[in-house]
Amino acid sequence: MVNQPLTGLVGWRGMVGSVLLDRMQAEGDFGLIEPMFFSTSNAGGAAPAMAKSEAKLFDAYDLAALKRCEIIITAQGGDYTKKVYPELRSAGWKGYWIDAAKTLRMQDDAIIILDPVNLDVIRGALKRGVRDYIGGNCTVSCMLMGVGALFKADLVEWMSCTTYQAASGGGAQHMRELLTQYGTLHAEVRDLLHDPASAILEIDRQVVARQRALGDDEIANFGVPLGGSLIPWIDADRGDGTSLEEWKGGAETNKILGRGTGFGSAGSGQGTALPSVPIDSLCVRVGAMRCHSQALTIKLKKDVPLADIEGLIANDNAWVKLVPNTREASVRQLTPVAVTGTMDIPVGRLRKMALGPTYLGAFTIGDQLLWGAAEPLRRMLRILLEA
Ligand code: NAP
Repeated sequence: MVNQPLTGLVGWRGMVGSVLLDRMQAEGDFGLIEPMFFSTSNAGGAAPAMAKSEAKLFDAYDLAALKRCEIIITAQGGDYTKKVYPELRSAGWKGYWIDAAKTLRMQDDAIIILDPVNLDVIRGALKRGVRDYIGGNCTVSCMLMGVGALFKADLVEWMSCTTYQAASGGGAQHMRELLTQYGTLHAEVRDLLHDPASAILEIDRQVVARQRALGDDEIANFGVPLGGSLIPWIDADRGDGTSLEEWKGGAETNKILGRGTGFGSAGSGQGTALPSVPIDSLCVRVGAMRCHSQALTIKLKKDVPLADIEGLIANDNAWVKLVPNTREASVRQLTPVAVTGTMDIPVGRLRKMALGPTYLGAFTIGDQLLWGAAEPLRRMLRILLEA
């Protein structure tokens, strides 16, 4: 690829986009590209400090401006992709489209990017001339960074996941809503909290009464209270008892691994020999700010000693961190507070389950804004620049 390609950045102000800019700065990516910043809300405004020749924000719907870019990286969201991507391709744009949104993920001619797991799939696609590279679902990417070794070794017969997903998974506005709710609830009982003699059940009664009385504007993003509660459904209702988030767990994991049929030319590029692995999930939103956590039940194809499993996981990539299955290590190292803002993917609570020697229990966590969103995008940029 040419030196300093003109690279469009759309959605850089959002949750994923701002983490992406931080990471690109930290890794020196801006030294290798000529960035062009776009906005859906502030065209003509000042571009961020990393801009070089193009110091103003361009209109993110201006096809002529977008067409100038050799590469476009977007974290603007699915509605934007749905509108702009087809118009841009119809207008004859032949550049590389790198996207955090789910819109194009399962299309035949798109690759889900998670290069520590599927670099061979990405390289094969580049050789075939594939131009669309889409970040995977955040929960799936974090899970594969943690226990991908077991899939690579073809040890997994099936897997069941229960997720605990942070508010930031919904975006910037969702994070603000959660924090505002916490503040509202605290304000409701502040005086009682300051009085050591107050009755805890009275505090509890007032908190739940305020939660139930939150107005439409106070729950505009999540639709129901999240502060001090949880929401056992994420994304659309598929009408078959599962949510779209839960469906992604199986569909995207298998596509990333190039397993199963039905993924067309985007899989391994030579037809897929290995059958898909059944994966079933129950996805839950919790009141954490960042990080998606997952409790996994993995049915192994054979009885592999726990020490061998630990070795496989620990040696899979540079970011996975094996956490000893003790109380002390788990409560300190396997939490959103410990992991937020780090590239680490801790995997812990590893043990053979009471169900039998081929049943493995595990808990893993990752900052979904890093490995689950921003990092695969910027690493794809590097892969393109080195191609
Ligand atoms: P977001 O925070 O809502 O940002 C999207 C856009 O909203 C921004 O680029 C910005 O566009 C606009 N915006 C409006 N009000 C804003 C405010 N107060 N602060 C910042 N931006 C504001 O969305 P996101 O979570 O980054 O998600 C972007 C895409 O990545 C989605 O497709 C999502 O599904 C996907 N994704 C998200 C995550 C995650 O954990 N959040 C993980 C993986 C993938 P303008 O600057 O043009 O106005």
